[in-house]
Amino acid sequence: MDFSLSDKEQKLWDKAKAFTMEHITPHAIELEKRNEFPKDVVQKAYEAGLMNLHIPAEAGGPGQSLVSETLVSEATGYGDAGVATTIMCNNLAFAPLVIAATIDQLKTYVRPLITGKEVKFGAFCLTERVAGSDAGAVATRAEKDGDEYVITGMKCFITSAPQASLFTVFASTQPELKNKGLSVLMVPKSKAVKIGLIENKMGQKNSVQSEVIFDHARVPKDCLVGKEGEGFKIAMMTLDKTRAGIAALATGVAQRAVDEAGKFANIRQQFGQSIGNFQGIGFMLADMGARAAASRQLTRYAAWLADKGIRNSKDSAFAKFFAADAAMQNAIDAAQIMGGYGYLSEYPVEKLIRDAKLLQIYEGTNQVQRVVASGNILKECANLDTGFHVKYDGRDAPLM
Ligand SMILES: Cc1cc2nc3c(=O)[nH]c(=O)nc-3n(C[C@H](O)[C@H](O)[C@H](O)COP(=O)(O)OP(=O)(O)OC[C@H]3O[C@@H](n4cnc5c(N)ncnc54)[C@H](O)[C@@H]3O)c2cc1C
Repeated sequence: MDFSLSDKEQKLWDKAKAFTMEHITPHAIELEKRNEFPKDVVQKAYEAGLMNLHIPAEAGGPGQSLVSETLVSEATGYGDAGVATTIMCNNLAFAPLVIAATIDQLKTYVRPLITGKEVKFGAFCLTERVAGSDAGAVATRAEKDGDEYVITGMKCFITSAPQASLFTVFASTQPELKNKGLSVLMVPKSKAVKIGLIENKMGQKNSVQSEVIFDHARVPKDCLVGKEGEGFKIAMMTLDKTRAGIAALATGVAQRAVDEAGKFANIRQQFGQSIGNFQGIGFMLADMGARAAASRQLTRYAAWLADKGIRNSKDSAFAKFFAADAAMQNAIDAAQIMGGYGYLSEYPVEKLIRDAKLLQIYEGTNQVQRVVASGNILKECANLDTGFHVKYDGRDAPLM
């Protein structure tokens, strides 16, 4: 068993950490106060080669692994979760296309967005007011009209939508089939794609979300990704991959909380000694450090499975809910260790609390992750022989 990164991954990890130290962490509080899209820093991340890593080389992309993507997400998430979400938004928007589009489709629709001088954005459009966790309830329609599809409906909470050039849209081609009638289409920006309400958030202010209204948006039929009716399956395969990215971002937040609290506990003197000497503080730090380390291992394992082509639904769900809960708990504990200073906005920790909360909600809430994980566990246990047999009513059963 080898836990080390490859040379290429190590270089990327070092580069992403150095980028974060220079361009994100020192500016995060100031950037948040501006409450606007962090275009400059994301442009720099694009130029540094930290975006669009998973686009295959045949389609003009870097063709890197999911493990590599998680390294960038953890490093940038350490500096600012909102900036990291903006840097990662193309991973989510383009993942369904990498999974199910042809190389020709990728070359036509994605390559121009990832090879120019200026950073460009995609937007992943699944959620609607009526379809949150219940993705199969999508009401947006895609109707065939000759050689085109006509898309009508409204999405909400869509990350980077106001900046996006390409929208990956989940729409129903056969509503009566529910989940099985969902399809995925690439919709380039046009006058028929309108940006609605911009959402106001408690944290991650360095990312932008909005409604998107598809008002009879017409696209050629070659914008269909995969086959009609494959949308739900593609969405689930996408989330299995991208949840490792959110888990990585959460690991960055969890580690930042450890580091800020650890630094403070060394410096802050009370009762004639540094507060880190108090066992009550030290034990909190130990638990926080273990949560961050466990998050990192779960995340990298989930990404490694995907890179090996091994189904990782359960492991990516584990990684996402564990790391997001770890980020939340560590942020709260860091504030406690910092006392009154943890509550002040000049220090980074109150922002970590606000930023971390979203990690438990987006890309499938932590409850939904537990539904996915427990469903997999129950399936694995249905016919499992643990070696302990008690016969009840002719079947294996618990001792009653
Ligand atoms: C800042 C932000 C960015 C986002 N970015 C995007 C994006 O780019 N693209 C996109 O498509 N979406 C995006 N989303 C949407 C996000 O994925 C959804 O908010 C999330 O999936 C939950 O849906 P919902 O908000 O409708 O909550 P609901 O589904 O209404 O859930 C409400 C509560 O019920 C619980 N619940 C629901 N079903 C179950 C169940 N079966 N078992 C147990 N509990 C359950 C949930 O866990 C939650 O606690 C974003 C959201 C936010 C806030």
